[in-house]
Amino acid sequence: MALCYLYDEKDISRFSESITSPKARELVTLSGEEILLPQTFFVLAEVSRFFRENKKSPTGFLEQLGLYMNRLESDCGKGLGDPDNPIVMTLRSAFTYSIRGIGITATTLPKLAERYGKGSIFFLYTNFLREFSTLVLGVPQVDFPDLQSVPAQEDKIALLEKMPLPDFLHLAGEYKGKISENAGIPFPEDPKDQLLMALKSLMSCSEEGMEEDLVIQEMVMATFSGKSVEGTFYTRNPFTGERDVYGIYRGPDRAKMDIKGEPDSPENLENRLPDVYMKIDSYSLTLENLYKDIMVIEFVTSEEGELYVINMTTAPKTARASVFSAVELYKSGLISDLQAIHVVKARDLESLMHPSLDEEGRKELHAFDTTGVAGSPGATTGRVFFSMHDALEFHAMAKDEDTNIVLVVNDFLIDDHGGLGVISGLVTKASGIASHGAVMARSKGIPCIAGFRDLNIDLEGKQMTLDGKIVRQGEQVTLEVIDRGRLFLGRGRLTRLSSGDGLLQEYASIMSEVQEREGVVTKIMVNINNAEDAQRGLDFGADGVGLLRTENLFISKERINLMREFFFLKEGKRKREILETIALQVEEYAEIFRVMGKRPVIIRLMDMPLNDLMPSSQREVDTLARSFPHIPEERIQRAVKDHKENNPIFGLRGCRLAVLDEGLYFMQASAIISAAYKVAQEGTRPKVYIMAPLVMGPKEFFRIREIVLSAEEQTYEHYAGGSKDRIRIEIGAMIELPAAALGADKIAVWADFFSFGTNDLSQATYGISREDMGRFVPGYLEKGIIDMDPFSSLGEEVRELMKIAVKKGRFTRPTVMFGVCGEQAADADTISFALENGIDYLSCSPFRVLPARLRLLKRYLAGKEGTHKG
Ligand code: PEP
Ligand code: MG
Repeated sequence: MALCYLYDEKDISRFSESITSPKARELVTLSGEEILLPQTFFVLAEVSRFFRENKKSPTGFLEQLGLYMNRLESDCGKGLGDPDNPIVMTLRSAFTYSIRGIGITATTLPKLAERYGKGSIFFLYTNFLREFSTLVLGVPQVDFPDLQSVPAQEDKIALLEKMPLPDFLHLAGEYKGKISENAGIPFPEDPKDQLLMALKSLMSCSEEGMEEDLVIQEMVMATFSGKSVEGTFYTRNPFTGERDVYGIYRGPDRAKMDIKGEPDSPENLENRLPDVYMKIDSYSLTLENLYKDIMVIEFVTSEEGELYVINMTTAPKTARASVFSAVELYKSGLISDLQAIHVVKARDLESLMHPSLDEEGRKELHAFDTTGVAGSPGATTGRVFFSMHDALEFHAMAKDEDTNIVLVVNDFLIDDHGGLGVISGLVTKASGIASHGAVMARSKGIPCIAGFRDLNIDLEGKQMTLDGKIVRQGEQVTLEVIDRGRLFLGRGRLTRLSSGDGLLQEYASIMSEVQEREGVVTKIMVNINNAEDAQRGLDFGADGVGLLRTENLFISKERINLMREFFFLKEGKRKREILETIALQVEEYAEIFRVMGKRPVIIRLMDMPLNDLMPSSQREVDTLARSFPHIPEERIQRAVKDHKENNPIFGLRGCRLAVLDEGLYFMQASAIISAAYKVAQEGTRPKVYIMAPLVMGPKEFFRIREIVLSAEEQTYEHYAGGSKDRIRIEIGAMIELPAAALGADKIAVWADFFSFGTNDLSQATYGISREDMGRFVPGYLEKGIIDMDPFSSLGEEVRELMKIAVKKGRFTRPTVMFGVCGEQAADADTISFALENGIDYLSCSPFRVLPARLRLLKRYLAGKEGTHKG
């Protein structure tokens, strides 16, 4: 007969193969350890199967059940329904339901109330009535009368404790009466009936093929006398991940207390019950060895202080605890490096790299209802400003403690770029995840909300209105960006765990070992704006630079007007002089090469919409005219007019600019290649890749290639003329337009490599402007017209184009390298796509490198496992 007693070795060895339900298996495992569990037996799944199929229990089952119950009663020294010494039982299935409190009847209540207290037993009883009535009697939720409107649970318990026994029994009877009234039958008062009815009901609701082993167990409860306490403990601190005794318990006065309170306090469990405390510590170790994860355990101690495990699950834990415990468990040999990769989520790494909002402090802030797109994750707090100009002015005057600035703007403009270093948070009204502001914020690790649609900025009045509330310049706001971006009024407290960085490095080195051993060839590279970003990317384990956005070297505060001047001028000496200044960038490129050593550095030639560079108001034109006294104002006016475009996204930008003005790329390529020779002379030969943005077709790319090649020729002659020490310069094309994807076979005749600029490619494929998407994409998502933001995760049509490009490109040049450097590169699905389609690298902003590496490993390992299985 399929009944199995937990502490009966013969039963266990006979049925060990048949016990398959997780809860029952867990009990079997624990019973083999030095861990005390309540007396238990199982009704195996096959009984449920028989019962469901035949609408009756197997022959002899009821007799066997009686015998097992007798044995359990005798082992517990209590009897079912015994008014002087009653036992209370639990019946539970693994996944679906449990019924706790079987055995509580009008006859046993007085003794139970005396033993466990009227409060505890009353709540157990009413809960039992509820569970039994809904699961067994099929009565919908019954509304019980409230306990004389006493709001807090603690107060209700106190009230019940003081109640004279007859009143208490009367109240319990009233509650039971409500159930009988609703069910139309008297509530079963024989505990054996309660058990059988509950058992039958759980068996009959099992689904075909999903039958579970049912667990019948004594309910061990605290009496709160002697050494009897109850509580929960964790095998590790769930906030920090450190090995420590952590949890709460209820002692004789039933108030909740920390197990590890103040060292001298009598409430500290170590002082009050040292042997229980030590047992918790040793149970924690045993359970950690068994489960290799942070577990949370519900426990009770008997009057003699014996520690019973009542229930156990995997603990909810912070990102830090998750990473810290994985590293510790790996170091102690409890888990393998593969398991350490498996148990940590990429999102945990992401959140560890950024400060987060203190949970307690959050309650003191006013939260606005409006939310926006998560442009760049993290949290920050600071004074709000509505223009970079005002923010910079404030920053110059501010005292140390006042310098945190949150910039809230409609659009993040090219001119705002120079102030990026002084702001600690950014909110933009229009646009989404691939907008210029969000991209820049991510590269700096600054939290950013993009597409904050309901924002109303009054620039003149230096204030904004949000959800009907006015916020003035200089007021404190707080930003929190996780899955969405949220804004609060007030100064939030932030938490950043100081050991975060060292911990990340440790975890990163576990990842590196796995990556190397498993032979993962797909690379994670970093998108950068300068050498500092390159260093950060390297610290997080980037395999190289996948995209240096060089235009950011031109639009620094000092250089932006030089660029404007360049485009205002006709050919002439001054224009050539400006071009010469581009050579000033040599040192900046050289520094990046030095940081990256022998790793590849992919440099994108300047990509700047001329329209964005032009002043947008007469006031700005006047200011510029004053800055350039040598240029007639009419020339400036004309240049502004000429360069103004109705649709700059598809206007004069990318490599188009250089095809029309060849000197620009020639000088830039010369500066890059000069830097490479300089660094090579210092001892390390850089791996240089130069790529052209927004390439449309082969003839256009051929032109750009010619410019770069002639710069290369000239620079080589200058530095190494005639010698064999020629640095190989790979010249590639960015695929950012559908035309380039479809024509990749023709471009591949000339291109050494390709990089998918999936921000622009998605923009051009869907005709959705990166900068203006915030106005309608959220609505489209809400209405289910599109299922994802195409700038967060690659859209199906973009994938199609990419597949065509890879196929066609490799048809012409089988070994040509392909990469992805748009914002989608760090996304898990893009990584899978890359693995499946032979894409060689993914490149993302520095703070996303580590999570992207983890996602790559996870997907790679899962794919490998799938292959083995398949
Ligand atoms: C892209 O378009 O995907 C890209 C990487 O370039 P940028 O974001 O600088 O336009
Ligand atoms: Mg682009």
